[in-house]
Parts: sequence; C-alpha cells; structure tokens
Amino acid sequence: MNRLGIMGGTFDPIHYGHLVGAEMARSKFNLSKVLFIPSGTPPHKDRSDISAAGLRYEMIERAIQDNPAFDISAIELERKGPSYTVDTLRVLREDWPDHELYFITGSDVLCEIFSWHEVEEILKMTEFIGAARPGFDASDFLLKVHQEHPEAQGRIHYLEVPALAISSTDIRARVKLGEPIRYLLPEPVRLFIQDHGLYTEEGSAL
Ligand code: NAP
Repeated sequence: MNRLGIMGGTFDPIHYGHLVGAEMARSKFNLSKVLFIPSGTPPHKDRSDISAAGLRYEMIERAIQDNPAFDISAIELERKGPSYTVDTLRVLREDWPDHELYFITGSDVLCEIFSWHEVEEILKMTEFIGAARPGFDASDFLLKVHQEHPEAQGRIHYLEVPALAISSTDIRARVKLGEPIRYLLPEPVRLFIQDHGLYTEEGSAL
C-alpha cells in the first residue's frame, strides 16, 4: 500500500528544520508524498498569538515549491472551529483511500497525544512520526505507551532531526530584535516575512 505523510503544525513560520524533517521522514518511511497541513485554529492555543492563516499558508507554498514530493492542503484553514486532527484524518482517509497515513509533527507535541480529542480513533487511522530536536529523549514517553497504551505500541515512531535546532519561536524573536534569519529558512520565505513586516511590532497585527 502507498503511504501518505501528513505534516501537521502551525508553521509560523516554516523553516529548514520542518523541511529537513519532512524529507527525512519521506525517505525513512517510504512515503510517496508529504502533505503540509497548517493548523487553522489550534485547539490548545490563543489565536491572537498566531499569524493569519493565509500568511502561514503562503509561506509554506513558497518553501515547498521545488520539491515534487511535497504538497500543501488548506483543509484545516477552511474548516470552522478548532483544528482537531481526528477530523482532518477522517477527510484524508476518504481522499486517499489507497494510502496508509503517517502523521508527522514535533516530538514534544506527540508526547501529549493521549489528551487529544478522540485519540483512540486517531490511533486507528494513522501512525505517528515525532520529529525530534537534538537531545530529545523519548524513552519515558515510549515506556508510558508500552505500559498504559498498548494499542499505540509500534504506531508511534521518533526521528532525530538535527536541523530542528532551528525553531519558529527563535526566528520570530530574531526578527523582533532585528537579528538575521537568513539561512534558517528558504530565501523566498525570508523575503515574504520582510515584505509583509511579519513578527515586528508593526506587522504583528497582520
Ligand atoms: P506547536 O505548539 O506549534 O509546536 C510545538 C513544538 O513542536 C514546537 O517546538 C514546534 O517547533 C514543533 N513542531 C510543530 N510541528 C512540527 C512539525 N511538523 N515538524 C517538526 N516540529 C514541529 O504545535 P502545533 O502546531 O500546535 O501542533 C502540532 C500538530 O498537532 C498540529 O497539526 C495540530 O493540529 C496537532 N494537534 C492536535 C490536537 C488535537 O487534535 N486535539 C492537539 C494538539 C496538537 P516549531 O515552533 O519550530 O514549529
């Protein structure tokens, strides 16, 4: 069966850590495509902290344009209400019936999945790949899975991604302080941030 990677995140902004992680996951798990899905209204966040969905979407489009194995979906931006992963997976299963689903996201987010809406259903529909920053230790979490959630055993994988030393939080802070962000993300994304005044005091309302 073919395998579809689903890259879920806020991507505010997308950077090389995300792109390298998606490419490593594509190669290691033999994914035929990786679909980037920016979250619309993350269930656990104050929306006012996050750049407008359309801006985050456009930055991803610019970042992935040269990789034919990467694509983007606005599915969570078009849906009203909180962006529950279970709803997204239900739609993707219909749209990609001959594909096994692999949901890729940050390793620390993944440690919280047992608090996610309808997690039992989620685990039936997808396997998970946690893209881990250097030094991240998943052993406690995997032990908990082994002891308390046997249904998830073997369906949660971790992948160390050295490029994830880069973070969106750090990039936003650098822009605010007037520090350089060149080489942390694709140049078309850097220019987009600059042109739209993102992450500066003036641009933060965009
Ligand atoms: P986030 O808070 O923006 O990110 C948390 C951490 O994970 C950050 O360090 C972030 O680094 C990293 N990260 C996020 N996405 C990543 C990715 N695709 N690859 C590598 N690192 C990543 O997390 P979020 O975006 O809100 O949530 C992640 C995904 O989980 C989303 O698709 C969200 O919808 C889903 N989620 C679902 C539920 C639910 O259904 N109840 C609850 C929580 C999350 P950067 O800041 O550098 O990206």
